[in-house]
Amino acid sequence: MTDRTTLHAPWALLPGGWAGDVAIAVATDGTIASVAAGVPRGDSVALAGPVLPGMTNLHSHAFQYAMAGLAETRSASGEDHFWSWRETMYRFLARLTPDDVEAIAAQLYVALLQGGFTTVAEFHYLQADPAGAPYADPAEMAWRILAAARQAGIACTILPSLYRHGGFGRPPSDGQRRFLLPAETVLDIIAALRRAAASDPLLGVGAAPHSLRAVAMEELAAFAAAVRENDAAAPLHIHVAEQPREVAECLAATGQRPVARLLAHLPLDRRWCVIHATHMDAAETAALAAAGAVAGLCPTTEGNLGDGVFPFLAWRAAGGAFGIGTDSHVGTDAAGELRMLEYAQRLWHLRRAVGATPEHPSAGTGLWAAAAAAGAEAAAQPIGAIAPGQRADLVVLDAAHPLLAGRDGAAIADTLVFGPAPGLVRDVYVGGRQVIAGGRHDAEGAIAARFAATMRRLLA
Ligand SMILES: [Zn+2]
Repeated sequence: MTDRTTLHAPWALLPGGWAGDVAIAVATDGTIASVAAGVPRGDSVALAGPVLPGMTNLHSHAFQYAMAGLAETRSASGEDHFWSWRETMYRFLARLTPDDVEAIAAQLYVALLQGGFTTVAEFHYLQADPAGAPYADPAEMAWRILAAARQAGIACTILPSLYRHGGFGRPPSDGQRRFLLPAETVLDIIAALRRAAASDPLLGVGAAPHSLRAVAMEELAAFAAAVRENDAAAPLHIHVAEQPREVAECLAATGQRPVARLLAHLPLDRRWCVIHATHMDAAETAALAAAGAVAGLCPTTEGNLGDGVFPFLAWRAAGGAFGIGTDSHVGTDAAGELRMLEYAQRLWHLRRAVGATPEHPSAGTGLWAAAAAAGAEAAAQPIGAIAPGQRADLVVLDAAHPLLAGRDGAAIADTLVFGPAPGLVRDVYVGGRQVIAGGRHDAEGAIAARFAATMRRLLA
């Protein structure tokens, strides 16, 4: 290897669509130096199959991965919904130590890489100790998240959260005490993370005012301004309008619906990511799309929690951008999130191929390309397309998989998203470095053993 490695793929999803015989030159700093289609392999390194740009997972609460499958039983009251699930989640997180969080996050991040995600935006609100006090180093939990990301080899944009209230005009509950650091402390954590990011090309730093129910508008505006003071392009993520009750409470307390309230008070842009935004009226949908904010959709979690159906057709008609996240991690693969997104829309609208666009008439291609591009913007990471100057985050499919036989171009993406093809993601590269090979991660045995020991102790 001289100053670069050239990879060769039989098919690649490029910004203009699928192309055959693609040479991707990767510089030693892990960025893509050049891309050329229709060239013979020559002495370049053959990839094992078709390649797509790495997907950003734009919404993760890593610790919730440990709860997957533990909150699916009907309660004695028979009243099971988002708010009762949240009480279960609060009881679960009350005991988690920094070691536990690191073990859980490492296992999750390996699973996300295997699912085609190369970057994760960690919406980080479990920050205080079990008594609700800051750790000796207030960034302790953030360092554990980053240690897990480094162990897995996934890129991470960490978003320390501001959480001050238990609801509109309500004091926090006991179950929320581990989220409640003062704004100055959160800003100190962000400053420390930014110093670390200066020497880590895979680390991004933003912030996450939790929601309009957890942060008052004056606090939110001041916090966002402080975060952007030293980094004008810092990503800012916020949960909004996930549940009808949240909309009703916001209306009652402020006279405004949540998305309308955000739009009225904050200068939203492409580096604002609104998580869920499920319950918008037509005016909110059009105005939020026009503001440029990215919709952070978490299809399997939203389905699992019974949140509702995002107004996807109206959002896209208004030019809205969207990315995908796995949030509570009842799903961990990118294709599965896109499939759930598309199927919820098909069931609701009695239509097919809603993710297709004029540039990408195949739904699978359109969904992957759009979510990869906007997800990268929302996480402020230089990925989202296979193009010169981008980091070489690549997802390579298994050309030997029987379902890919004879398929090319758009049929590959549609088989990935809609085909019953587990195991199709074969190799994954982050910054030009291969972190998944043949579906396996180098450290997956040790990471899984630590995770299993953690779970046995937590569930004993
Ligand atoms: Zn969330």
